[in-house]
Amino acid sequence: MKKLLIFFFLFFVISNDFFAQSKPYVILVSFDGFRWDYVNRNITPNLDSVKKNGVSALSLRPTFPSKTFPNHLAIITGMYNDHHGIISNRFTNPFTHESYRLGDTVSVRESKWYLGEPFWETAKRQGIITASYFWPGSEMRNKNRRPTYYKKYVHTTPYLDRINGAIEWLKLPQKKRPHFITLYFHDTDTYGHAFGPNSPEINTSIKRLDKLVGYLTSQLSKINLLDSTNIIFVSDHGMTEISLNKIINIEEILKGYNYKMEDGGPFVLIRPAKKNLENIYTKLKENEKHYKVYLKKDLPKFFHYSENPFIPSIILVADIGWSLVNNKILKLMRKHVKHGNHGYDNNYIDMHGIFIAEGPQFKKGYKTGTLWNVDIYPLLCKIFNIEPRANIDGKLERIEFILKEK
Ligand code: AMP
Ligand code: ZN
Ligand code: ZN
Repeated sequence: MKKLLIFFFLFFVISNDFFAQSKPYVILVSFDGFRWDYVNRNITPNLDSVKKNGVSALSLRPTFPSKTFPNHLAIITGMYNDHHGIISNRFTNPFTHESYRLGDTVSVRESKWYLGEPFWETAKRQGIITASYFWPGSEMRNKNRRPTYYKKYVHTTPYLDRINGAIEWLKLPQKKRPHFITLYFHDTDTYGHAFGPNSPEINTSIKRLDKLVGYLTSQLSKINLLDSTNIIFVSDHGMTEISLNKIINIEEILKGYNYKMEDGGPFVLIRPAKKNLENIYTKLKENEKHYKVYLKKDLPKFFHYSENPFIPSIILVADIGWSLVNNKILKLMRKHVKHGNHGYDNNYIDMHGIFIAEGPQFKKGYKTGTLWNVDIYPLLCKIFNIEPRANIDGKLERIEFILKEK
């Protein structure tokens, strides 16, 4: 009897270890605002090598609006922004007047705003340990909905610390070791805004991030996990040149009308006070130059931005490079002259990001066209051989061909 018990105990320990080892490893790295063509500038030797040994897409199509939080959530949930609920970097629930804001450490942690299921939640439910060294939505104050290991966002955390943190997680004993890890770096977004996508400063930033690619792979190699890890480099959106000469002041156009304006720059949400909708829409339509005005119900389907009750009834989308402002935003723009922005029509190529991946599950030297960022969630589920949520927008068949056939 004792022998039998020992046998079962050993069998349990060994098989647990075996299954843990046979699970794939995935590191999902986000380079904020890394435009699709930054890898074609001949300044990214490390990403070039990943491309050569793995899969590269011509570009990665973001969701509308092409902003940071909505897109990180689209990538990690496989849903369009109106479905996963993070409709912008900042927005208001018009029924309760509560607000969600990217810089607000309280609201970003409230799980009620997040309507989609992030991949780490799907994975956790199916027995996979996950970790995040930053990702929008990873800090939810509900331990079932956030990664097993996570870090509260600190913008100034040195980049090498983030990579070293991921490596430390991978050094944990099998039973505690995460198999899915996210990393996030803001560099190209910051420099893209400040100096524009065609500046020498952005090229320095691109080179800085490329060096991190080399550092990550060298550290993985040191712990003998390079060959068994799938590394996916993505960006949430691209960047386009903007100018103080391309400005439309919505506050001047709507002088005397009663409304609330949310967001600004590449797109604007207008919430008219009761009975003002028609007049405001007509006025905006009369002045429709360098932007498009839509009633929510008529918004083209390709934006996937009509099915959320928090989105107000009028949506303005600026032509690429133009900025929609009110007096407050104009003042800010004049003060801190910005040269680049994103948030425009997500189909415009300047708004597209990157998708470059390498690892045991990916084809080698495979180049494909534009991929959709909502398809990454079902791809991750496929790699881990787990069940995706049924209600997602992403489609496995639009991306599955980049994986090796078994
Ligand atoms: P934006 O360019 O306005 O779409 O947003 C980019 C900014 O988002 C970056 O400069 C970061 O400071 C911020 N950011 C990125 N991830 C997080 C996060 N997990 N928590 C808080 N802020 C974040
Ligand atoms: Zn971003
Ligand atoms: Zn940005």
